[in-house]
Amino acid sequence: MRIDQDGPIIVWLRHDLRLADNPALVAAAATGRPVIPLYILDQTPGARPMGGATAWWLDKSLAALDGSLRTIGSRLILRRGPARAVMEDVVAHTGAAAVVWNRLYDAASIDRDSEIKAWLKDDGIACESFNAGLLNEPWTVKNGSGQPYKVFTPYWRAAREQLHHVHLEPAPERLTAPESWPRAESLEDWGLHPTKPDWSEGFDLWTPGEAGARARLDHFLSGPVQAHDRQRDLPGVEATSRLSPHLHFGEIGPRQVWVAARTAAEAGDAPKGQVDKFLSEIGWREFNHSILFHDPDLPKANFRPEFDRFPWIRDDAAFQTWSRGETGYPIVDAGMRELWATGFMHNRVRMIVASFLVKHLLIDWREGEAWFWDTLVDADLANNAGNWQWVAGCGADAAPYFRIFNPIAQGQKFDPAGAYVRRWVPELADLPDALIHEPWKASPQPSAAAKRIYAEPIVGHSAARERALEAYRSLRGD
Ligand code: FAD
Repeated sequence: MRIDQDGPIIVWLRHDLRLADNPALVAAAATGRPVIPLYILDQTPGARPMGGATAWWLDKSLAALDGSLRTIGSRLILRRGPARAVMEDVVAHTGAAAVVWNRLYDAASIDRDSEIKAWLKDDGIACESFNAGLLNEPWTVKNGSGQPYKVFTPYWRAAREQLHHVHLEPAPERLTAPESWPRAESLEDWGLHPTKPDWSEGFDLWTPGEAGARARLDHFLSGPVQAHDRQRDLPGVEATSRLSPHLHFGEIGPRQVWVAARTAAEAGDAPKGQVDKFLSEIGWREFNHSILFHDPDLPKANFRPEFDRFPWIRDDAAFQTWSRGETGYPIVDAGMRELWATGFMHNRVRMIVASFLVKHLLIDWREGEAWFWDTLVDADLANNAGNWQWVAGCGADAAPYFRIFNPIAQGQKFDPAGAYVRRWVPELADLPDALIHEPWKASPQPSAAAKRIYAEPIVGHSAARERALEAYRSLRGD
């Protein structure tokens, strides 16, 4: 069945909230038939609810997409409910002849989409899906024995080899509107923006939507990329792209990032080595999506099952101290406070705070993953679970558990003058550089607020390190 048979076409938008390089939208537009762009706030029972920070983002991203669609003669239809029931209703009320979408790669989405596809086909409605979200879909990159890669470096080498001709679809210039639009809900009624309290004041640094994504990419390629490889580990310096939430929502796609970065390198506008390093970060995103596709339980279960016996500790008080950014280790606290205030945390600091939770506090990585899920604007099933498992030592190609970050040394190495700590932990701002990562050595403490948290950290580093190694040895039966 072809999607260009008579009748309107529904474009079901999900993690592809953009007009440019959106193959499903382009395919629908190319038929010349009326197009109905639809976003469903999916309430299928059992689906993992969105976190608060991603809900904040989605609110703005949908508004931006609706605005863009209106400039080309269309609009975005918003509906909520279990996806299949909504789709049945919209198809029935519009007489749609076809439904198209761009694919997702987690098990719950695959099951849902397969069920909807089967039902549409049974009802004589054409259905087609496309790739907008990845450079290479997970089943296309395999090792010599036809198996998915479990180690990043060979994965990325093989993946890159498949990327000689990356094709971009231009945004449609016009969409044909249907004779009448189906019923739509209002974004305000969805209540995605927080109220009582509105904790999103510090999220102003973001501009969700396709234009904001493009501006961020252009800005990165016209400046920060120059020192990306050298400085990307310094949280006090702007040397990374901050594209992750835009990529998560598909306001920009990895193919667009790939082409723009390669073009900048080929034109001599950005050093090739810096661009290659940046694109390898996109490679980690691809790798995590591949791992999640082949191991759908990744968000819940240890990738390496020997970790199922790990003696995690349940300690709600310590977890709360960590999540509030009050552990007494300045670099850890700065990261957790940046996260709470802005919905983002620098990658190096994510690694430090995650390591601190699973190794210094011996708290299960799944508790940290859930906190990030709720508070990150880029919270992403594949990237969040993949990275938490990587830090915890139980993931694919993971950092070994016994390599335990020293939060003092990490702070001194990556935030030597304390610029990042001073910004997010203002009660330490007056400390000299030499003490900024060891504030308990200051006498007296710079303020009453500093005294409460920094006179003594929640755990001593050496003792915590020994305890973590002991736990790891017990796992191996030493
Ligand atoms: P850049 O350095 O500019 O990289 C460009 C893009 O590559 C990013 O936007 C992102 O899409 C991708 N990328 C970079 N590093 C990674 C990585 N390690 N793994 C996967 N993709 C990567 N990233 C998320 O997108 N969502 C998450 O939920 C998430 N949770 C994380 C949890 C932990 C414990 C850790 C250690 C890392 C997590 N990351 C997550 C990965 C990484 O921290 C962010 O992608 C990165 O900080 C985003 O900043 P950027 O856009 O400036 O990155």
